[in-house]
Amino acid sequence: MKVLDGKVVAAAWREQLLQKIEELKQENCVPGLAIVLAGDSKPSAMYAHFMEKVADSYGFKATIYHRGEDVTQQEMEQLIHELNQDNAVHGILLMMPLPRGLDTSRIISCMNPDKDVDGLTSINLGRLAAGEDGHFPCTPRAVMAILDYYHIPLDGKRAVVLGRSKVVGRPISLLLEGRNATVTVCHSHTKQMDELAHEADILVAAMGRPEKVTACMVKPGAVVIDVGINRINGKTVGDVDYAGVSEVAGALTPVPGGVGSVTTTMVVDAIVREAGKRIK
Ligand code: NAP
Repeated sequence: MKVLDGKVVAAAWREQLLQKIEELKQENCVPGLAIVLAGDSKPSAMYAHFMEKVADSYGFKATIYHRGEDVTQQEMEQLIHELNQDNAVHGILLMMPLPRGLDTSRIISCMNPDKDVDGLTSINLGRLAAGEDGHFPCTPRAVMAILDYYHIPLDGKRAVVLGRSKVVGRPISLLLEGRNATVTVCHSHTKQMDELAHEADILVAAMGRPEKVTACMVKPGAVVIDVGINRINGKTVGDVDYAGVSEVAGALTPVPGGVGSVTTTMVVDAIVREAGKRIK
C-alpha cells in the first residue's frame, strides 16, 4: 500500500510558490492576504494566526482584521467592501463560523470573487460547476493536488465521494468530474453507501465521521483519500479506519499528514495566482 504523503506534496508546491513570489517581488508586487476574524472562536483565532505564520514563512504579508463578538452585519459588510477596494490585498480569508446573528451568506456575497481565495462565493462555485476558471475551495484543490502529484489516473475511473458539503464534498465531486472521472456522491440519506463505496477506484471520505470507512467498504487496490479531521480522546483521526483500510487499499492518505497538509498551500497558491494577474 502506498502512503500518499501530503507533506511531500506541500513541499514540492512550496518550492515553486517561493520562486513565483520572488518573481512577483521583482515586479514590485508583494502578495497580500486579509484574514477576517470575527468573534471569540478559539479554533478560528488559531487558524488565523497559523495562516499569518504561513504567510511570513513564504515572505508575503497577511493582516488579521479582528472584530468583536458584537460586530454588526453592516460593519462586517463595510470591512469586506474596504478590503475589496484595497489594492494591496490579493486575497480575503473569512474565518468561520461568524458570530451568531450575522448573515454569513450575505457577507460572503460581498466579497469580490477575484479575492475570494477560498472559493466561498456563489460566483466561484458557479464557475466551478460551469467548468470555468476561478478560485475554488482549497481543501478540494488539495485533494486534486495529491492525486496529481502521485500521477493517479482519473479519466474514466469510478470515483465515489462521501459527503456533499458546499466547501468540501461537492467541489471535490465537480473537480473529479471535470477530469473525466465518473462520480457518485453519497450523503446522509444515501442507501447502501457501503456497496457504492466498494465500487470506487477512487474513494474520497469527507463526512466528518471518525473512522466510518472500514476495509469492507474498499475495493482492493482502490485509492482512498481521507479528508476527515476528527478529534477522539485527544487524538486526531480521519473518516477512514487507517489500520484496516491500509490492508486493502492500493494507496491512502494519512490523517494527520494528508490532505490537511496541502490545504494551506492551496490558499497560498490562490493568492499568488491572483497577485500574478495584477501585474500582467
Ligand atoms: P459537513 O459540512 O458537516 O458535511 C458533512 C457531509 O457528510 C454532509 O454532506 C453529510 O450529509 C455527509 N454525512 C455526514 N454523515 C454521514 C453519514 N453517516 N453517511 C453519509 N454521509 C454523511 O462537513 P465538511 O465541512 O464537509 O467537512 C467534512 C470533514 O472534512 C470534517 O471532518 C472536516 O473536519 C474535514 N475537513 C478537512 C479539511 C482539511 O483540510 N483536511 C478541511 C475542511 C474540512 P448531508 O449533506 O446529508 O448532511
